Amino acid sequence: RKYVYDFTEGNKDLKDLLGGKGANLAEMTNLGLPVPPGFTITTEACKVYLESGAEPAALRDEVSAHLDALEKRMGRTLGQHEDPLLVSVRSGAKFSMPGMMDTVLNIGLSDASVAGLAAQSGGDERFAWDSYRRLVQMFGKTVLGVDGDLFEEALEEAKRAKGADSDLGLDAADLRGLVERFKAIVAEQAGREFPQEPREQMDLAIRAVFDSWNTERAKLYRRQERIPGDLGTAVNVCSMVFGNLGPDSGTGVAFTRDPASGHQGVYGDYLQNAQGEDVVAGIRNTVPLADLEKIDKASYDELMKIMETLETHYRDLCDIEFTIERGHLWMLQTRVGKRTAAAAFRIATQLVDQGLIDEAEALQRVNGAQLAQLMFPRFEDSATAGAKFQRIGWGIAASPGAAVGKAVFDSYTAVKWSRSGERVILIRRETNPDDLNGMIAAEGILTSRGGKTSHAAVVARGMGKTCVCGAEELEVDTKRRRLTAPGGVVIEEGDLISIDGSSGKVYVGEVPVVPSPVVEYFEGRMHAGADEADELVQAVHRVMAYADRVRRLRVRANADNAEDASRARRFGAQGIGLCRTEHMFLGERRELVERLVLADTDAEREEALGALLPLQKADFVELFEAMDGLPVTVRLLDPPLHEFLPDITELSVRVALAEARKDENENDLRLLQAVHKLHEQNPMLGLRGVRLGLVIPGLFAMQVRAIAEAAAHRRSVKGDPRPEVMIPLVGTVQELEIVREEADAVIAEVEAATGTQLKLSIGTMIELPRAALTAGQIAEAAEFFSFGTNDLTQTVWGFSRDDVEASFFTAYLEKGIFGVSPFETIDADGVGSLVRAAAEAGRAVRPGLKLGVCGEHGGDPESVHFFHRTGLDYVSCSPFRIPVARLEAGRAAA
Ligand code: PEP
Ligand code: MG
Repeated sequence: RKYVYDFTEGNKDLKDLLGGKGANLAEMTNLGLPVPPGFTITTEACKVYLESGAEPAALRDEVSAHLDALEKRMGRTLGQHEDPLLVSVRSGAKFSMPGMMDTVLNIGLSDASVAGLAAQSGGDERFAWDSYRRLVQMFGKTVLGVDGDLFEEALEEAKRAKGADSDLGLDAADLRGLVERFKAIVAEQAGREFPQEPREQMDLAIRAVFDSWNTERAKLYRRQERIPGDLGTAVNVCSMVFGNLGPDSGTGVAFTRDPASGHQGVYGDYLQNAQGEDVVAGIRNTVPLADLEKIDKASYDELMKIMETLETHYRDLCDIEFTIERGHLWMLQTRVGKRTAAAAFRIATQLVDQGLIDEAEALQRVNGAQLAQLMFPRFEDSATAGAKFQRIGWGIAASPGAAVGKAVFDSYTAVKWSRSGERVILIRRETNPDDLNGMIAAEGILTSRGGKTSHAAVVARGMGKTCVCGAEELEVDTKRRRLTAPGGVVIEEGDLISIDGSSGKVYVGEVPVVPSPVVEYFEGRMHAGADEADELVQAVHRVMAYADRVRRLRVRANADNAEDASRARRFGAQGIGLCRTEHMFLGERRELVERLVLADTDAEREEALGALLPLQKADFVELFEAMDGLPVTVRLLDPPLHEFLPDITELSVRVALAEARKDENENDLRLLQAVHKLHEQNPMLGLRGVRLGLVIPGLFAMQVRAIAEAAAHRRSVKGDPRPEVMIPLVGTVQELEIVREEADAVIAEVEAATGTQLKLSIGTMIELPRAALTAGQIAEAAEFFSFGTNDLTQTVWGFSRDDVEASFFTAYLEKGIFGVSPFETIDADGVGSLVRAAAEAGRAVRPGLKLGVCGEHGGDPESVHFFHRTGLDYVSCSPFRIPVARLEAGRAAA
């Protein structure tokens, strides 16, 4: 097995093996772009190391061979005293994990070779010593585990002693002193000297990168982003180029398009006379990339050409890290860049227009989670907000959204407060990887320093979290936990603030929110709004059309009133997949249900049912009207009856009090008896669903009659009702047969009485394991199946759907037993395989059997893909999830 690949050997499709960075460095090398030569150690080597605790035996020799080749090519030897080759050692996993893992620059410098580096750079002693102090600092911190603050303090101390306000104020002698100080810190803290031998430096750095895969922050990031824990990282060893060789050098980051809006143009930051992480860390103030044209036109022009090459080659937005060494441009990294949800939709359609991608590809460039994010409310028009609310700052719109919360100034407090149910905004001068916990806990992130590429911005965008960064007029005092705005406005910890990640504005207090333009669009209320919103709506409109053209799954709504049904229809629903009739029994009708439950005689029961019938019928008339011409699946009553009765404790107290007052109420006493009788230890496994229909005479018949009469009425007014009757919680075909027989009789009766052919179909939910296992038998009596994946998950796992999320799921998620709750995303291996088997068995018996799903999973992106693969006909979900389901159904089919 080969563990090391030269940059000339790899390509962009080898991300599993070479990591994202390594694969793309290879791709750029092969495109003939200026990449400093180097090689990549594979993720396989990392996996061996992580599993066994030692590097694979062959690795050392392979690295030696590649290092030899690199040295020959560069005409220099690693760390050689007179003319040293220096290298960087960088992590690079398959999925980008910004700032989570380690990097060490300037490997190869030592007490002896520092003079050689000075000679190489034309006698620049300051540069050489600055590079050396960076090596000792980075190596000390990341490889030897020394507390980074100790180096920072020593650096501050040196600056103070010199009266310098930045590190540029330190000269060669100062830096030489600092190197001595840093080496002493290493010796004290790490219990060993800083290694002078270059190969030892390199080997230790490689191992440190392997180890950094398993730091706490990296693990947390992976959990958050759902990146598998066993991928390991690759390691890139790359010959050093220097951006800190004077004003004709520098380093920068660039995007080929604006990652926030998708607009084409020149986006990025440049920092003159600086190295490596200086830009991303937001340590010194960068200039906009466009300024590079004035600083170094030749490099700027070349960069623009390269950016165009990359966009056309990758057919997508790319982000780039580059360095200019004395007027020579070098590409250090590229990758398909992260972007906001709005930008994703816009870029996808722009690329279609440019002819770079087709519609199917465009669908892969967006996803349902992004669409859902675009449907979140926003702050009301910022002009109005500005007039009514005090704006205290205006930073960079780094990651869109409207976030309101209490100000907190450290991650610990953010996590603590959010656990107790508070919404918080995390305010920092700048964030670093240690803030990850707090960023996850917060509604939004506000920083006073750093640009669009700062840590806060990049990570927040990745998480889809609102972020305003670089609000420079705000003074953040983390020690005193307060923020001071111009004009002396002070925000203390706990004060409410609002941040607008789309405009970058920061307000005191809670700014009200309004629906997003995307929701307005789905609602059919196209407003003549700002251009930005219009462009976005256009892009969403087009992408939805791509999805609708290719998708095979139909999308229906879970809705049980005309209002929801109409909204669902506007959102693109192709019918109702689940009308939960119990929702029609609430409110003032509860009393009628109470009468039904209390009925002692047939006459009493029939009277109660008789009172419910016209109400049910009126509900269905409205519903069928809202969904005219489209199927409406009406599910007969499902939940346990005690849900309609008073709480047992409350009622017992009421009766006891009345008894004490000698003021007993006959009705309460009967009610209490009934509540006792119906009380169940496990109501979800008790008298509900089809069991109710079998136990309470006339209940299901009444509901079926209401459906049939409503349909007949709609026909009489020239409507086109398409009701389907659905029986819940069936476990055996016998249950279904009994209910069916009764329902068929009722339907025939209504047909005869009204003189209409109703063509009502009768089907069942498959939501119990036994139903799934005997689906072949059940299909004999059912014209359709609708998978109730909520109950099916509950009963397959034996998890109470109402309790587990609050009790032990956190522990399960932390232990990695599952990455996401099976109530949220279908458990394909367990619950899913039952669905698949039942679908096959059902269709084998009744070809053309209609198959749908109406559990919560119907609106979950990953689950929608599973249902597509399983060959179902439709998914049904809540109205607001319909666009997401349409999009994902399209993505699954594209
Ligand atoms: C289900 O169980 O998946 C279902 C849709 O029914 P309910 O959620 O009403 O139990
Ligand atoms: Mg159910």
